[in-house]
Amino acid sequence: MIPVLDLQPEITLLKKELQEASERVLEHGRFIMGPEVKSFENEVAQYLGVKHAIGVNSGTDALLIALRAAGIGEGDEVITSAFTFFATAESIEMTGARPVFTDVEPYDFNIDPDAVEKAVTSKTKAIVPVHLFGKPAAMARLMELGQKYGLLIVEDCAQSFGACYHAACADCSGECMPDWRQKLMGKQTGTLGVAGAFSFFPSKNLGGFGDGGMITTDDDDLAEEASMLRVHGARKKYHNEVLGYNSRLDTLQAALLSVKMKHIGRFNEQRREVAQRYHEHLADVEEIQLPARPDTGHVYHQYTIRVKRAGKSENPGKRRDSLASYLKEQGIQTMIYYPVPCHLLPIYEGQKMHLPNAELLKDQVLSLPMGPFLKKEDQERVIEAVCSFFRG
Ligand SMILES: *Cc1c(COP(=O)(O)O)cnc(C)c1O
Repeated sequence: MIPVLDLQPEITLLKKELQEASERVLEHGRFIMGPEVKSFENEVAQYLGVKHAIGVNSGTDALLIALRAAGIGEGDEVITSAFTFFATAESIEMTGARPVFTDVEPYDFNIDPDAVEKAVTSKTKAIVPVHLFGKPAAMARLMELGQKYGLLIVEDCAQSFGACYHAACADCSGECMPDWRQKLMGKQTGTLGVAGAFSFFPSKNLGGFGDGGMITTDDDDLAEEASMLRVHGARKKYHNEVLGYNSRLDTLQAALLSVKMKHIGRFNEQRREVAQRYHEHLADVEEIQLPARPDTGHVYHQYTIRVKRAGKSENPGKRRDSLASYLKEQGIQTMIYYPVPCHLLPIYEGQKMHLPNAELLKDQVLSLPMGPFLKKEDQERVIEAVCSFFRG
């Protein structure tokens, strides 16, 4: 079976360094907030180009704590994408605020700024864009809306470690932009909004060996607030000020993540090369739409294609599902991210919303095998199988 993601090659490659790192931690024994946590936080801050990086115990907690540290809570509305993993919405809910789901751009799966603007009310406090599958969202437009309506932007970077922002939209080349927008070009996700939230869940671009997460921000006050919230709401031990969390990044995880961090630029580059090969060989298959190209700052957490419907009379999703079954028979694993958009989840059953693009995508998306170490011959098998499904 060719898996969607194979983590074993990088573990094998880095085994010695990983073992040495864990041995160091076992020897000094400072398992909670040991020295490796601070040094990993510094490495991340430096790599991304941000003032503060605060390790926490998951991407979900990174979102929750970043939102709370930004002052989001009871009575607030937070606009986010309907086409994301539930944790985005869940973390908003956990602050006491209400997630307001908006539709996405079908070409890059990310939140549609026009839909965001329509969803703004007097209660709206923040926007949480998700850089889905590793493709930066339309940050310039979103930041413009943030300015216009006084909204904070907290980026969900769970899938976008190392992705950098390039163009505001598909038809924008850059030169026509005002200075403030040009300054955003090439900046890392997680450094554009007031805060960013990263996940180190094992399957993410920078994946650990268990749960982990990180908050990034240039704002000193937000950083201090977040650091306090992650240790039970105490600035000084045993002097708890507010209800916080037990949400620290383990020393052991930090030490291991530090090892992988040294290679993240190369790993993301290898993902882009894999994407480029898919692009070259699948460009002529009319029945599918390919994701955005590597020069858009994409890091391909997933390589997700859209399988278009054969005709109006065909059941939505039928051709995508047949392709998935065909690939499975050929020994190729694929995944559907996400089969149910947030607004259609059982928990939101009462809302009765209709978001046409998110609903279109749930029937069309299919994520193909992707990873820094996807073997050329395996990828060729995937490409051949996709082509032969459509050409017979
Ligand atoms: C994985 C993920 C999260 C949650 O991260 P965890 O570390 O699993 O808590 C949040 N948002 C998105 C888009 C994700 O993919």
